Amino acid sequence: MKGKVALITGSTSGIGLSIAKAFANSGFNLVIHGLEPDGAEIARNIEKEYQIETHYSSANLLNPAEIEQMVTESLSKFGTIDVLINNAGIQYVSAIEEFPLDKWNEIISVNLTASFCTSKAVWEGMKQKKWGRIINISSAHGLTASEFKSAYVASKHGLIGLTKVLALEGAGFGITANAICPGFVKTPLVEKQIADLVSKHHISEEEVVQNIILQKHAIKDFVSSDSIAALALFLASDHASMITGTSMPIDGGWLTF
Ligand code: NAD
Repeated sequence: MKGKVALITGSTSGIGLSIAKAFANSGFNLVIHGLEPDGAEIARNIEKEYQIETHYSSANLLNPAEIEQMVTESLSKFGTIDVLINNAGIQYVSAIEEFPLDKWNEIISVNLTASFCTSKAVWEGMKQKKWGRIINISSAHGLTASEFKSAYVASKHGLIGLTKVLALEGAGFGITANAICPGFVKTPLVEKQIADLVSKHHISEEEVVQNIILQKHAIKDFVSSDSIAALALFLASDHASMITGTSMPIDGGWLTF
């Protein structure tokens, strides 16, 4: 993998950051991306620690022109994007009758439309090289539903549909596309949900975690972001060249219920 280039959206936090470190550790050069204010510093630190090259982008995924610019800048720095990981995602929790339309549109844009835009932008390069990997971080919520998460569940199901089409269209060109479907991972995205549930139900964080969040998992623990990173790294490898169009749960047995 040494010298290959991976663009990982949302890699300045949570799961994306773990994926970035795992790929850096395998010798990938990286496009680090995300909205965290210390994003450029995160990229510099990864560059130093793993002795690789990075490019940092703070493109707002709500804006397709910024996405295109991020890919153009990355290609002009590295000449190639071999692996695209569509990881950035957002959540909003509300009953359907109160769910604001602007939140719906934002979630569909970041979680789904942006993945279409990034895939489209890297496609020609991968096709010409006859090698490419697209890994979409969907969710267990891409394969099942929970109440109050209409936009998130719809976006993550949509991302799995997009993954299947990319797999079909890439099949003749050495491009694979797969989705990873995690259960709950303790990142800022989930920490916010835990805090909201603590205030809503007036119970402790421990009770929220055990009785509400992990109630979905057969194995009563969080999924580790490092395990998701290891799975992504495997999907990016040559050993995974015949794996395409799949949606892989890593969910502590949630989807067995
Ligand atoms: P996180 O909040 O820690 O990180 C999200 C990243 O996306 C951040 O870097 C943020 O800057 C970036 N981002 C958000 N909106 C953006 C925008 N408009 N433009 C550019 N960047 C933007 O979240 P996480 O938990 O690490 O989630 C990563 C992915 O994994 C998401 O797609 C999420 O849906 C998915 N996922 C998370 C869990 C979980 O339990 N944490 C479970 C299943 C799936």
